[in-house]
Amino acid sequence: METVTRFAPSPTGYLHIGHAYSALINFDQAIAAGGHFLLRIEDIDQTRCRPEYEAAIFEDLAWIGLTWKEPVLRQSDRMALYETRLAELESRGLVYRCFKSRKDIQDAMSAPHHSPVGAFRSGPLAAIEERDALAEGKPYAWRLSMSEAETTLGDAFSTLTFVEETKTGQVECPADAGHFGDVVLGRKDSGTSYHLSSVIDDAEQGVTHVTRGKDLRDAAGLHVLLYKILGLTPPVYRHHDLILGDDGKRLAKRDHAATLRAMRENSLSPSDVKAQLPIVTT
Ligand code: GLU
Repeated sequence: METVTRFAPSPTGYLHIGHAYSALINFDQAIAAGGHFLLRIEDIDQTRCRPEYEAAIFEDLAWIGLTWKEPVLRQSDRMALYETRLAELESRGLVYRCFKSRKDIQDAMSAPHHSPVGAFRSGPLAAIEERDALAEGKPYAWRLSMSEAETTLGDAFSTLTFVEETKTGQVECPADAGHFGDVVLGRKDSGTSYHLSSVIDDAEQGVTHVTRGKDLRDAAGLHVLLYKILGLTPPVYRHHDLILGDDGKRLAKRDHAATLRAMRENSLSPSDVKAQLPIVTT
């Protein structure tokens, strides 16, 4: 099978050197295997994404020498598809409306660059309460029902694993999906979340290897569960080290000095940028 990798940034700021690292690893991985590399624009959160950041993604990645297979998929063009998939999950009783936690609802639009918060399992409201909340126009999220997922998958739920590529080869890791609790898979207004759209797109684009930072390692366990529920074949996962700022913290798009844009403005060349990156060890 042809190796397909991808880099999937959200246009919520300028790319920094950590993004360059991730994109380069994915690119090199695809080229080394004679496969291809995809770029995907993850712009489901239209309140935070901006066209100038999207334009900069193309420019900055081209500047460091990357090419990708066209066409570039843009998630905001695919909202209807995500909504359809979510509606299918609803008809199977796998998601329910949750009127709690505005913050979780908001966070669902971006990748969780931290460990999962722990098991939140409110379960659906009683029909009459739900009717009232809907009539009042309260915002809600669609949460995955872990207990329904467990019932649907039976033994496969607790034995679910994801395959991780490490320095010493491929290992099977427990998905441990239950500890995610009832994660938000969609919002009332957008009908999707980072988790749902990312899994749907990786599967549809035939991505065979998802390589991203170690801060997203936990997400692999949840994503394989979504693959299983949706009847899709999961990729192999690989998790690279993070490039940290001088303060030892994960770089953020607001760290201007670390952006590819700022480096270019400071007359650094793409080779100067690459020279700052660690040698890939995983
Ligand atoms: N759009 C996500 C991010 O920028 C992508 C994460 C992933 O690679 O799945 O963090």
